[in-house]
Amino acid sequence: MARKVIELKTCDPCAVKGEDTEAVDKLTIGGDEYDMCGTHLERFRAEFRKLFAAASNVKNIA
Ligand SMILES: [Zn+2]
Repeated sequence: MARKVIELKTCDPCAVKGEDTEAVDKLTIGGDEYDMCGTHLERFRAEFRKLFAAASNVKNIA
């Protein structure tokens, strides 16, 4: 019987919740790589923007 195995990259944060969601991109920090779905990618981007904005505000005060 013919068989084809298809590999699907899944979102790491979704996997923590027990969900299999297709990853659309990956986040790399140092040597760590995380596959991300669109929702989680946008959520993490927003968090990093907030962190850098907060860091620049601290610089302006100093
Ligand atoms: Zn996800």
